[in-house]
Amino acid sequence: MHDSSQPTSDALLGGLLPPDIRRKSCLSRYQSISYHKSSPHKPSPYLVSKLREYEKLHKRCGPYTKSYKKSIKELVSGQIDSSSNCRYVVWLANCGLGNRILSMTSAFLYALLTDRVLLINEESDMSNMFCEPFPDASWILPEDFPFMNQLYSFGRDYAQSFGNMLENRMINTSTELLPSCLYLYLSHDYDHHDKLFFCDQEQAILRNIPWLIMKANIYFLPSLFLMSSFEEELSKLFPDKEMVFHHLGRYLFHPSNQVWKLITSYYKKYLAKAEERIGIQIRIFDNKTSPVEHVMDQILTCTDKEKLLPRVDMGKSIVAPSGKGKSKAVLITSLVPYYYEKMMNMYSKHPTLNGEVVAVYQPSHEEEQQSENNVHNQKAWAEINLLSMMDVLVTSAWSTFGYVAQGLGGKKPWILYKIENKTIPDPVCGRAKSLEPCFHAPPVYDCKAKREVDTATIIPYLRHCEDIYWGIKLF
Ligand code: GDP
Repeated sequence: MHDSSQPTSDALLGGLLPPDIRRKSCLSRYQSISYHKSSPHKPSPYLVSKLREYEKLHKRCGPYTKSYKKSIKELVSGQIDSSSNCRYVVWLANCGLGNRILSMTSAFLYALLTDRVLLINEESDMSNMFCEPFPDASWILPEDFPFMNQLYSFGRDYAQSFGNMLENRMINTSTELLPSCLYLYLSHDYDHHDKLFFCDQEQAILRNIPWLIMKANIYFLPSLFLMSSFEEELSKLFPDKEMVFHHLGRYLFHPSNQVWKLITSYYKKYLAKAEERIGIQIRIFDNKTSPVEHVMDQILTCTDKEKLLPRVDMGKSIVAPSGKGKSKAVLITSLVPYYYEKMMNMYSKHPTLNGEVVAVYQPSHEEEQQSENNVHNQKAWAEINLLSMMDVLVTSAWSTFGYVAQGLGGKKPWILYKIENKTIPDPVCGRAKSLEPCFHAPPVYDCKAKREVDTATIIPYLRHCEDIYWGIKLF
């Protein structure tokens, strides 16, 4: 049953979201607009129509449909049946939530560009995280998928991976008997042959293979912009290159009702009343080279220098709560409570120099990454969303967790540059120049010239990232 009241155009994010999805099954889809400032960045009409076309394709070819069953037969028999007209890309998880969301988005754009249907292998650690994104259809790979048990063993060294088959000359553009299924390895430690995925010539082979099974944990989407086969379509879909994840992320990833409840109750209880909300995302990759004291110094120097938070008078104590100055809420996300405790103590015990009243919050401190734990992932997803609702963001260099928050929220963060060898960088932080996430492991190969190239120098809107000099991102 559909709700009779139709959501407004704003709630549909400028046409990004389909109007006729069941609302109660996914409250966040149309409610999130109340927690975010309306995005000034509208999707192109071409992207909107492409998404509606995709939804039709997914409904026709998705799990449990006649076409799906036919394609499964094709997969099992290994014989390509030319009358079967559905083709798929199956995404397999690898790594933390931020990496997963960015690689799923890349897989979705690839599916859009190649008229494939995206299916997600949802392991138990991912259950109840997201709403189904497409109307009247599921993107979850059914549990009775024929090679389910084999999916776990698929990794870099798998003999049937596209990269290994190319390396061992088991497949090329003139291969007549193509397999019905191929494995693509697109994770951070992939090798030269896996990266030939980004060459137009190799894409011509993949075009005729109905099932592609992709193990990915990277935001490989920027490299699709370097391929001539996708150039024209991408320029129509995304006239503004800096908005690719902002649009696709908000289209695909809506918190489940369970996670949405965590988000909204936290927001209402602690953040709603403040006049300004500041999110500080702290992600430390190596505690030895980045000691907590150094990171704390870096954060305070950055928020002071950029005038995001006021200084306190350490010589004075707060005697009575002041109700005069502007109220600011700081949302800290981190695996550890250290930064929250320091900052909370500082602002609760000492008055600020400018009279502002600062309250500090941290929803959880999980101590360690536990990406196989569903409840842990739900908390991480809730925090990414809370960060995306802040007015101002400070994020940690290198972190996909932060990239997702900035992209969904449409806010260019101040990036805390990486501390190396216990040395606080100078400057300590800098404003991101583009909203897009960074692709940390781009190919550096010119497919036509067959030699190495710096892929950040070929087209004007693809450049090196602010936080990783060898990474590339869209501008
Ligand atoms: P990245 O490693 O920073 O690029 O981000 P990922 O999201 O891919 O992986 C880090 C994972 O560690 C997250 O998905 C969470 O599981 C966990 N994690 C890291 N930082 C936080 C945090 O601030 N809050 C919570 N709840 N979990 C975090």
